[in-house]
Amino acid sequence: MSSIVVLFDFDKTILDIDSDNWVVDELGSTDLFNQLLPTMPWTSLMDKMMGEWHVQGKTIEDIIQVLTRAPIHPQIVPAIKAAHALGCDLRIVSDANTFFIENVLKHLGILECFSEINTNPGFVDEGRLRILPYHKSFHGCTLCPPNMCKGKIIERIQSTFTTEKRKTIIYLGDGAGDYCPSLKLVEGDYMMPRKDFPVWYLICKNRHLVRSAVHEWTSGEDLEQILLHLINTVISTGDMKKNVDNTSQLFDCKFETTALGAFAKPVVVPH
Ligand SMILES: [Mg+2]
Ligand SMILES: [Zn+2]
Repeated sequence: MSSIVVLFDFDKTILDIDSDNWVVDELGSTDLFNQLLPTMPWTSLMDKMMGEWHVQGKTIEDIIQVLTRAPIHPQIVPAIKAAHALGCDLRIVSDANTFFIENVLKHLGILECFSEINTNPGFVDEGRLRILPYHKSFHGCTLCPPNMCKGKIIERIQSTFTTEKRKTIIYLGDGAGDYCPSLKLVEGDYMMPRKDFPVWYLICKNRHLVRSAVHEWTSGEDLEQILLHLINTVISTGDMKKNVDNTSQLFDCKFETTALGAFAKPVVVPH
């Protein structure tokens, strides 16, 4: 089992854009969307848009076509593949929906890299897409939108960790909805906010409230470099600890120090 869990937001983190806005714009419904937005929650509006498109004769295949054209930085897929190859447990925590995310990740050839997708349910029902809220009743968090509290998802994931083998979380995100989960991270975890995006501003304003280390990123290149560096740091620290555990059973403390320097192996990043 991997000791590192990497949690990815989806919109404006894996994809360079917001998938909901992208599909609405590409299907020519921007005006209608903006007109209805003040009248209902985002997820309900997305569900309503799906109904509109169905009536207009737009098919599920049309939506998939639009999704597969969504812009993504060229280093994101290599970064995800490398993190997976290094043995990390990768999961999605997103306010998009399962239908969009699965189709995009499948198209990019990286769906199998992820062990879990936490998002709003999206499914085809009689030729029309349905989008439902992640939480069926109010989650009780005032920081988050009514349909989803990502902090609650982090707490659920953390509750599966055993005390003797604590896992390290690396969290990547950009939006205001990624702030609540950043408050759930603990010392030893890593938060990677996208610089100049809402979560970055919120963290900068409340830096003392975030207990994890914070590493900002701007481009897909940064994301790849910083993420792989953090993963390698956690892996080599773990290796050193293992060496200490093994050697301390056999040798005295003086030798242990030597062994540590001599045997801690560098980890090569595959490219
Ligand atoms: Mg996002
Ligand atoms: Zn929350």
